[in-house]
Amino acid sequence: MKAFIACLGTETNTFSPIPTGMQNFAETMLFHGDATQHEPNLFSEPLHVWRQCAEARNWEVAESIAAFAQPAGTTVGPVYEALRDELLDDLRKAMPVDMVLLCMHGAMVAEGYLDCEGDILESVRKVVGPDAAVGCELDLHCSITKRMTDNADVIITFKEYPHIDGKERAEELFEVLLAKVVGDAKPVISTYDTRMINMWRTPVEPMTGFVERMKSLEGKDGILSVSFAHGFPWGDVPDASAKVVVVSDNDADKGNALAQALGGEIWDMRHETAPSSSSIDDALDQATAAEKGPVVLADVSDNAGGGAPADSTYVLQAMLDKGMSNVLSGLYWDPIAVRMCQEAGEGSTFELRIGGKCGRASGDPVDLVVTVKKVVEGASQSFGTSKNRMGDAVWVAADGIDLVLNTVRTQTFHPDAFTQLGIDPAGYDVVVVKSTQHFYAGFAPIASEVIYVAAPGSIPPDFATIPYEKFTDAYWPRVDDPGK
Ligand SMILES: [Zn+2]
Repeated sequence: MKAFIACLGTETNTFSPIPTGMQNFAETMLFHGDATQHEPNLFSEPLHVWRQCAEARNWEVAESIAAFAQPAGTTVGPVYEALRDELLDDLRKAMPVDMVLLCMHGAMVAEGYLDCEGDILESVRKVVGPDAAVGCELDLHCSITKRMTDNADVIITFKEYPHIDGKERAEELFEVLLAKVVGDAKPVISTYDTRMINMWRTPVEPMTGFVERMKSLEGKDGILSVSFAHGFPWGDVPDASAKVVVVSDNDADKGNALAQALGGEIWDMRHETAPSSSSIDDALDQATAAEKGPVVLADVSDNAGGGAPADSTYVLQAMLDKGMSNVLSGLYWDPIAVRMCQEAGEGSTFELRIGGKCGRASGDPVDLVVTVKKVVEGASQSFGTSKNRMGDAVWVAADGIDLVLNTVRTQTFHPDAFTQLGIDPAGYDVVVVKSTQHFYAGFAPIASEVIYVAAPGSIPPDFATIPYEKFTDAYWPRVDDPGK
């Protein structure tokens, strides 16, 4: 038996001003067949899992590219085609294969390709034919299309947001595809469109219970796998809305009925699960009034993980205006400022222009007299069990506000983004992180309180007013009843 494994993806914010090209892939993750010989990260970890699963059965493994770009704007057409064609060339060379396991995001858009994952799955199916088992693991912020379900045997998405379950979902994908390969099951995919655009945070009820409910339905009564594909609100594609995905053992009627029933449960929870966020003023007032710190504020609109620049200054400027102190904030993507701090060196004090450089959504730059407290080259931060690159990072202090600036655009995942520079986040009254939800697992244990801030930015959290052009379906919350 032979398994073919690969990763190709990014999460495309079609409203972001930052093009996604080969430099972004090279900086984030770009392996040509040897990802499993390196430390795993969120999107290469499944390849490690699949190699172990296959080799434990004495299967042969053909490993192709592992390419992932930090979320940004639309992927440059020829860059997507080059990566896809490398994957397909490797697949042709590996033939015949029994199982194809792909790690993709599910919300990748390239010039000329609104559905990159559908394009990849269809191309893979053409190479391997109808009998090979083809499956993919996707981020739950994905758009499920008919082209994808027509060409895959199994689609499994993460269940958890923050995405802490990539490894478990990878193991399940292998198990369900294995059932097809050995003839124990015939996986059939059913989907149900909830007609909703929303963000669902799974560490809090009622979503924690819903995740448990999905798990409880799997592996019995002819149901092989249950996923909830949340959709990605800032990707303007025809299939943007959230969908339930059920993989049954050759029982489409049962799969359809379960997908519809679960979709109904999600619909019924819509008011409870709609994320609440505070204005900058309200959030800062609440944080200032807190009896103990640190209050962790999430600047959700400038989350690099959703394609935002991560250099916006709205919250920073508001804190300066209020004269706040004992505040820590990061990560600001500002290679120019980092370069100047590196040049000046630790201990130097000078006027530095920070952030506000990428576009209108970033606000105005902020000029501060800073002292460079620490410079770290090749910094990285934890996310789950993986390490993620931050590039070079500097800690600068100004007027009671400590900032971390870095050279690789990334959201703030974990307190070690700060501690490796010698900063103890627990010692601050207020910590502002640029992230929507992935910060939560790392920061909630040290936070006295977590507040989501609706600042201006590239990924504003008002789903009713996102200016879609290609996504034309009626959806909640733009309309109260989008129909079914
Ligand atoms: Zn995601």
